[in-house]
Amino acid sequence: MASDTITLTAQCHCNALTFTSPPIPRSSLPLKATNCHCNSCRHLTGSLRGSSDILWPGPPPSSPSTNSLLKKYTFSPRLNIFFCGKCSTTLFWEDNSTPGTTTYLVFTGVLTPTSPLREGEKLVEWDAHMFLDDTTDGGAVNWLNGLNGPAGEKPRRWLGWKDKSEEANPQNVWPQDKKLFPGYAENLLDAEPPNKGDVPVKCHCGGVDLLLNAAQAQQDFKDRQARGEQLPWFVDPSSYKLLGSLDGCDDCRICSGVELFAWTFAELKHISYSAANGGGVLPTDTTKLREAVVENKGPGLGTLALYASSEDVQRYHCGRCSAVVFYACDSRPDMVDIAAGLLHAPEGARAERVISWSWGGKLGFGSDMKGTWREHLAAMTEQETEQFRIARGFPKSFRRVVKEQGASAVPGGSGQV
Ligand SMILES: [Zn+2]
Ligand SMILES: [Zn+2]
Ligand SMILES: [Zn+2]
Repeated sequence: MASDTITLTAQCHCNALTFTSPPIPRSSLPLKATNCHCNSCRHLTGSLRGSSDILWPGPPPSSPSTNSLLKKYTFSPRLNIFFCGKCSTTLFWEDNSTPGTTTYLVFTGVLTPTSPLREGEKLVEWDAHMFLDDTTDGGAVNWLNGLNGPAGEKPRRWLGWKDKSEEANPQNVWPQDKKLFPGYAENLLDAEPPNKGDVPVKCHCGGVDLLLNAAQAQQDFKDRQARGEQLPWFVDPSSYKLLGSLDGCDDCRICSGVELFAWTFAELKHISYSAANGGGVLPTDTTKLREAVVENKGPGLGTLALYASSEDVQRYHCGRCSAVVFYACDSRPDMVDIAAGLLHAPEGARAERVISWSWGGKLGFGSDMKGTWREHLAAMTEQETEQFRIARGFPKSFRRVVKEQGASAVPGGSGQV
């Protein structure tokens, strides 16, 4: 009898919080999930993918038996978020949109079945992508058709609310009109105001309110190249844009609550406080940044908080709304990874005037998914990002060329297909 049921856990990255469902019948699988690409969800999780959740089949996570580390954030008048106060893992939605009823949804990125799935059994099935319109350029939607596996249904696409807005065809690249995402062919060096300049890096609650000084960074890299200096590994030597890269690792999945995280990379000297916070550059090395956050120096850092996930790694997040913000490690003292979902770029969620995305090729840390219910997601991402690149006529990125052909390919720049 026991084998006819399955139990689920939702656990944060630091393991301080674990929630367990009662045994649920295997006949109730797969559990239906929705992926929301709206601006609010992207700015809440830091993920380019927004949020992804299923109805939680367990007891309410707010019950008194839960750990006091569980923190609550008011996302909207009807929705609250529960997250870990130590590692900031985004765990649950509390939904009060139906008067008199409270339901809980769990983020798919923190979900683990406690016993193996049977042959052919699926834990989660994504039925929809919603709020594509918010992304302007499609964000991550074009490489998430295979969420349900190669033989599974493609999730339906909605420009706004699921079932209540215009529907887009999942067979097509979205948006169809290339003019709707002009960012790829342009960069900030030759952009016109008001699109020339800084890109806000801002979480949902606005407590983390920083600026990526992208135009200044591109000029700086161009000047350094002219002086014969070697550019950092994450800078496109032709466009001076910053590398954008997808990440399949367990750590970023759990901390954000969403599979397939997306990062871009920047030197700390190219990140500043917002004008509202007095401007000025962030501490320019990761040791000073860590000290400033730990000692809560200066109002400009706002709600930026720190979780040391290992001895040499610092994961920065918003202590109020839980958004993933930066990843820093001691071996790269002058730079951080920036959560791509926090960028507020006018050209769209992928911020393509600023970021040179690496499409196709091997997914970073995709092997973390091996042997888990998410195993198909790595191959899906590799195939679909390549299909997207070819459909849009984008060349292989500089980073992929370097990886595939070795460092000698660099002088050719990113134009090599
Ligand atoms: Zn935690
Ligand atoms: Zn949303
Ligand atoms: Zn926040």
